[in-house]
Amino acid sequence: MRKAVHILLIEDDTMIINFLSLALKTQGYELTVETTGKGGIEAFKNLNPDIIILDLGLPDIDGNDVIIEIRKMSQIPILIVSARELEQDKIMALDAGANDYITKPFSMGELTARIRVMERFISRMNSVDNEQDTLSFGDLVIDRERRRIFLSGEEIHLTPLEYKLLILLATNHGKVITHKQIMKEVWGYQETEDPKGIRVCMAGLRRKIEKDTSDPKYILTEIGVGYRFTDN
Ligand code: CA
Repeated sequence: MRKAVHILLIEDDTMIINFLSLALKTQGYELTVETTGKGGIEAFKNLNPDIIILDLGLPDIDGNDVIIEIRKMSQIPILIVSARELEQDKIMALDAGANDYITKPFSMGELTARIRVMERFISRMNSVDNEQDTLSFGDLVIDRERRRIFLSGEEIHLTPLEYKLLILLATNHGKVITHKQIMKEVWGYQETEDPKGIRVCMAGLRRKIEKDTSDPKYILTEIGVGYRFTDN
């Protein structure tokens, strides 16, 4: 039998804890609950979980500080659960290294869909080396060694920026990448945000790799936040 996926839930809201405990255990996940940020970091170190679900509003330390601490040690998928609707909080958490976010109130269906994306992220991390030369996503093949891209067997030509943007998103498959992270990794800017510049580059990239740019299959827009690569 496959080992159960172990989820560490760091959350202080009793109603959410009860709701998630029942639902996640019913679906076969192993669950550990911690109600403080410090307790969560300790549990992470001691228990080696597979996925973290993290509330940003914790009683002791800020959820963002939990992300920063954990990212010093691990690339474990972190899903943010937040009551805060402020876009800026989500963006800060993603900039700090969270993979994805979900806003309260949410349905169990939404949550399990996010968890499944993270499970695929883990199996990709485990089965393939991210530094490997060739990445394949359905019809899209990226040959990193020769810097060549093929779509349904036909080579397509990207500009250097489009290529860097595609590599950043594809090697972070399933993870939301913020505008700030894109500016830093693709353009090399530390603080400047230029969503318009990114949009122009993204439009060019999508025209080349997406069959229908109005209904993209590989690169999804997270409105006001950034982008996510997927091959669903
Ligand atoms: Ca809370």
